[in-house]
Amino acid sequence: MTPPKKTTIPHQDGPWQYGEETKAVHAGAQPDPVTGARNTPIYQTTSYVFDDVDHAADLFNLQSFGFIYSRLTNPTVAVLEERMASLENGRASVCAASGHAAQFLTFFSLLDPGDHFIASRNLYGGSITQFGISFKRLGWNCTFVDPSDPENFRTAVTAKTKAIFIEVLANPGGIILDLEAISQVAQDVHVPLIVDNTLATPYLLKPMEWGADLVVHSTTKFLSGHGTSMGGVVIESGKFDWAADDRFPTMTQPDPAYHGLTFYETFGDFGFTMKARAVGLRDFGPSMSPANAFYTLTAIESLPARMDRHVKNALTVAEFLQSHRKVKRVSYAGLSSSPYNDLAKKYLPKGAGAVFSCELKGGFDAGVKLVESVNLFSHLANVGDTRSLILHPASTTHRQLSDDQRDAAGAGASVIRLSIGQETAEDLIHDLDEGLSKV
Ligand SMILES: *Cc1c(COP(=O)(O)O)cnc(C)c1O
Repeated sequence: MTPPKKTTIPHQDGPWQYGEETKAVHAGAQPDPVTGARNTPIYQTTSYVFDDVDHAADLFNLQSFGFIYSRLTNPTVAVLEERMASLENGRASVCAASGHAAQFLTFFSLLDPGDHFIASRNLYGGSITQFGISFKRLGWNCTFVDPSDPENFRTAVTAKTKAIFIEVLANPGGIILDLEAISQVAQDVHVPLIVDNTLATPYLLKPMEWGADLVVHSTTKFLSGHGTSMGGVVIESGKFDWAADDRFPTMTQPDPAYHGLTFYETFGDFGFTMKARAVGLRDFGPSMSPANAFYTLTAIESLPARMDRHVKNALTVAEFLQSHRKVKRVSYAGLSSSPYNDLAKKYLPKGAGAVFSCELKGGFDAGVKLVESVNLFSHLANVGDTRSLILHPASTTHRQLSDDQRDAAGAGASVIRLSIGQETAEDLIHDLDEGLSKV
């Protein structure tokens, strides 16, 4: 295992703070010390040679840092981990095979069977299933609350509560939560606040600046950015005091798998990351592949430029749809007509992301007709691609639900979800206009 560095841009010294764009290109990376290769190589290797038996023993006991086996650490993945920690202003991070794998590692590192956490009910659909059904089988109980009133989180706290989980920019309804207020509740009740920052990316929002303790991402979306690579990451701020009470034995009690080592005491402000890696990745194995880390690193170099274009296009398309006679409502927090526009200005001043929904006049058939009539938009279940994407939730992702459940999830019969890409905005508008003419 490698210790997370505090300074993530090589040769950075002195008080100068590099900007976002510079960190996106450089953080964590340096020319290969052996070959001079300027780009980060794909270390396509499963394992690493030990100097001798003592060196191997030290590595296995977590008494010294280094590489053992790529289920735990890999040099290409390590560069991405350092870059993500830097971009989120966190202390350290651990990558995983997907966003859901990162969420699993996060909760596995915090919860024992019988424990409880509270989640916003406005989440990515897959997270609702993961938390509500699969986690339950592990004895991890989740209460979903309406996040529009931050006090709902406080009311749901029990003696067993170990975390609060939210998406600030929530998929897909253009909803923005009051991060600062929810963060205050988490602090008052002393549980870590976990933010899924996938749809905002660290370029638009840095949850840790508002008090988040852990940030998770599906790097599959805007971070890898081109629809090429699955991945996830969890970043820790290093600021949560796991020993303030006896509620986090996973962090503060001796770990039998490491000769009684205590993660928080031994590793301090990166103890959570070490726990997630040395126990979670070791025993469950959802590691990110070095090739996917490479694609994601390359894509992050253009993240700031891409996100600027994504949000500019999204606003242009949202304004067009809002004025279209066949559209009933557009739910995009970047529009001044949105009830979330003030929160968007506060938390997402560079733009309210590029994923939103709109409701057509007409029912189920109108939605089906539009997704089948567009050409430039791809009809598929993903977001955060360079390409523009379109989905009719009622006929796909939300098909199994009742009408009431669909409405509650913001996925009513004629709701369309859009993820706006990098194309020429006029072309996107033309495509939607042609499609709507057939509805
Ligand atoms: C896609 C997504 C996830 C799950 O990530 P995977 O990489 O698909 O496992 C979690 N949260 C949000 C907001 C997402 O969009």
